[in-house]
Amino acid sequence: MFKNHQEVQEFCKNNEIEFIDFKLLDLAGRWHHLTITPRRFTSETIEYGIGFDGSSYGFLSVEKSDMVFKPDLNAYFIDPFNEAKTLVFMTRLYNVGETHTRFESDPRYICEKVDAYMKAEGFADQALLGPEFEYYTFDSCHYQMTPQSTGYQIDTVQAVWNSNRPENNNGYIVSHKGGYHVDRPKDVNFDMRNEMVRILESLNVPVKYHHPEVGGPGQQEIELDFEGPVVMGDRSMLVKYVIKNTAQLYDRTATFMPKPIFGEAGNGMHVHMQLLENNANLFYEKGGYSDMSQIGLYAIGGILKHAASVMAFTNPSTNSFKRLVPGYEAPVSICFGTANRSSVIRIPGYATQPMRKRFEFRPADATANPYLAFSALMMAMFDGIKNKIDPVAHNFGPLDVNIFKLSDEERGKINALPKNLFEVVEALKTDQAYLLSGGVFTKEILKDQMDYLLKEAIEESILPSAREYKMYY
Ligand code: GLN
Ligand code: MG
Ligand code: MG
Ligand code: MG
Repeated sequence: MFKNHQEVQEFCKNNEIEFIDFKLLDLAGRWHHLTITPRRFTSETIEYGIGFDGSSYGFLSVEKSDMVFKPDLNAYFIDPFNEAKTLVFMTRLYNVGETHTRFESDPRYICEKVDAYMKAEGFADQALLGPEFEYYTFDSCHYQMTPQSTGYQIDTVQAVWNSNRPENNNGYIVSHKGGYHVDRPKDVNFDMRNEMVRILESLNVPVKYHHPEVGGPGQQEIELDFEGPVVMGDRSMLVKYVIKNTAQLYDRTATFMPKPIFGEAGNGMHVHMQLLENNANLFYEKGGYSDMSQIGLYAIGGILKHAASVMAFTNPSTNSFKRLVPGYEAPVSICFGTANRSSVIRIPGYATQPMRKRFEFRPADATANPYLAFSALMMAMFDGIKNKIDPVAHNFGPLDVNIFKLSDEERGKINALPKNLFEVVEALKTDQAYLLSGGVFTKEILKDQMDYLLKEAIEESILPSAREYKMYY
């Protein structure tokens, strides 16, 4: 941690830092950056920040677009990918004007607010989040985009995949298909993934484990140790950054797109959640359903009750909904269960130790802005605790059956997840009081998010698709 600009300058001198880079986050959860030389890092940088155009980030309109960012002196790393040695700071967004107030819609700020709200309301003194990152890597040659590109070249990847599917393979083609935990030599990405994890750990992002996933050999997964919301937001950004940039070093591209390949497993970003008080796990109570405490069940109730609206932040892309279909261990129904991978909330069956008792929210994917996704999930959880929302009384389960194997009629009795962004926007329109509690989310960011989601939904709905070419050309 740095106390002032002199310390930053000194660090740069001692470590031969050539550039200082600032990461700026947009509404959609993507990093942008701006770079200076250490000479330009002064007390003014810390006190007054650096100005930029907020309209390009989805935050402000063009006619009132000036914003300021300041470096977060607690959140920095040395970039492992740049040729020039570069010190990188995460940033905080501020309004322009003499008072320099925090910009209310800054996703990192919302995470800070949710943490403060939790403590002020006495829900817990610590929240722990454990995201899992599933992603595919492809050879770079499969994904050559040119300015004229329609984007359909990804069909090449789909074709290669299809030819290896069992039903298309008459036995003479040697399958390269891997899968869940598949070992070498089919785990062709092992060295690359080790390198990713090596870099992440060196950047202070502790990794729980990594492995090949069901949609192998391209699909893989990296899970993180649990942490609080702000730090986990930062680490999630770093995970995506490191995975994508390491893949590039190996002449591959990495994607977190929720459903890149039709007929294959999608990419989820399951989020494990836990609340602690004085280092004791508030979710553990021997004897209840799955040894889950009443507080834990209320937390589950809150998330399930608000699931459709939460998805405005956990599943914010049109592609998100191509993953949430039956048959791929991605959820389609709003319910909970122990060890049930077809439900929205799974209580891991193997986590029997008191400190490990937790639940996992399965719909989320990594097209989410992680700070907003974590914040929305936490607010739904707190609403459940505050209003004692019992998931059993609300008919959310527990369900310990495979929902994909139920008949349509039986499955119809369980509430379905939204099928597209239009439905999600409708849900957020009517169900947002829980997000606005304590001023954590603001009306502005909810409106910005709904405008953004609607634009995405409309654009996709009018775009001729590859399938339409096949069917109707
Ligand atoms: N890929 C699945 C999903 O989309 C999860 C599979 C798993 O982790 N077992 O959520
Ligand atoms: Mg996992
Ligand atoms: Mg997985
Ligand atoms: Mg999981």
